[in-house]
Amino acid sequence: MLKLRRYLAGTVLPFSPHYHALFADADLRPGLLRDFQSLEHIPFSSKEQLLKNARAFVLAPDEAALKRRPSTVARALLHGRAAVQEMFEHEFRPLMLTSTTGRSTEPAPFIYTGHDIKVLATAGARVMLICGARRDMRMINMFPFAPHLAFWQAHYAGTEFGVFMVSTGGGKALGTEGNLRFMRKLDPDVLIGMPTFLYHVLRAAVDSGMRCARLSKIVLGGEKAPLGMRRRLRALCNELGAEKVDVLPTYGFTEAKMAWPQCPGTDTGYHVSPDLGIVEVIDPATGGQLPEGHPGEVVWTPLEARGSVVLRYRTGDIISGGIVYGVCPYCGRNMPRLIGEISRTSEIREMRFDKLKGTLVDFNLLEHVLDNCEHVATWQVEIRKSHDDPLELDELILHVRKTDGCTEEAAREALHERFVAETETRPNAIQFHTEEEMRRMQGVGAALKEQRVVDHRPRSAAPAEESTQLTHA
Ligand SMILES: [Zn+2]
Repeated sequence: MLKLRRYLAGTVLPFSPHYHALFADADLRPGLLRDFQSLEHIPFSSKEQLLKNARAFVLAPDEAALKRRPSTVARALLHGRAAVQEMFEHEFRPLMLTSTTGRSTEPAPFIYTGHDIKVLATAGARVMLICGARRDMRMINMFPFAPHLAFWQAHYAGTEFGVFMVSTGGGKALGTEGNLRFMRKLDPDVLIGMPTFLYHVLRAAVDSGMRCARLSKIVLGGEKAPLGMRRRLRALCNELGAEKVDVLPTYGFTEAKMAWPQCPGTDTGYHVSPDLGIVEVIDPATGGQLPEGHPGEVVWTPLEARGSVVLRYRTGDIISGGIVYGVCPYCGRNMPRLIGEISRTSEIREMRFDKLKGTLVDFNLLEHVLDNCEHVATWQVEIRKSHDDPLELDELILHVRKTDGCTEEAAREALHERFVAETETRPNAIQFHTEEEMRRMQGVGAALKEQRVVDHRPRSAAPAEESTQLTHA
């Protein structure tokens, strides 16, 4: 809390137009923040505010005020004026940005300064440590080249930790074949990337008869990695001759400017660095803080950010097991941990699935059902109008590549059963495809993110602001 009070008083409030005004209006002073619960005095920040005026959240330093900082005066006496100027540049000059993947909304730009890049690298090195990496490992980063957190987090994690890493840019830059070539050449210990893309690459590697026995870790990010997906990735690694492989999901979002890893224990949760920021879990309905271990929405407050800064930022992400404190039973680190699976409520809203066949369909649930079905290797949900007539009913077509060694009848029966048991809808048809067909349909390598849900309803029938091609992060 001392760190938060200093950070607010010395860095955020003097230089952030948004928070300067907000704290003044609420007559809120950093000195009032004495304990974790008193954070509730600070109003939430939202994605909507950020989209409306991203610039208001960027720290705009005022030289005169900076020069009055006690640390500045001390530094000027010790190192001279030029060194002080250099320090301001490092701390406040915008150097790069990342943005959220725009789907139905405009992407919101998020600014990094030199100081932020240093923090990104520190957080990255911790991801490496917690995942159990060693410097003599060889790694391939398959995140797409893009102004997205996932790619840059992986890149800086490698340089800061000091490990050999090739960044292929994923499928869009080199295609599946290009990624396979690097796997053959490097015989890597670690693959890093998005679950659906890594699945396709590993599947193709198995199909081509490749051996990759050194593989010991698969590190996932950029989208959710449900248990079923992790199990399938591990099974593919086994087929490549890799016996013991840790499949490790990470969790991050643009506004955190960092990602949090899981250690190789079973469901030990995402390990959060408490010196770099504060994570709260709140009741999404009331906004109140929840006790340890209660499912709720993840709220983020940084302690080291410059550039774009958000306080008590509501992510819209629900963590199923809440946050827990104390020592991790597997790795022994004393860090807060977010336990369980992440569901992104923003995606449900963006998809407008409430329009589907007149029932509210929880897309997160649907996804868990499909990812966890052992008969399904890959899938795509297609929504269209019956006979392509805009006035007709919505239809849900499920495209599936089934796992080897089960019949179409068995897969169809299992899927119908799960759908009825767990969701309020059922597919109008289930169509089976080959791996190659699925890759083409999902746009693997062609699109930045694989298309797991496509909306083929005629435009006039869909809500006005909705795009016809829905992609899912
Ligand atoms: Zn741990």
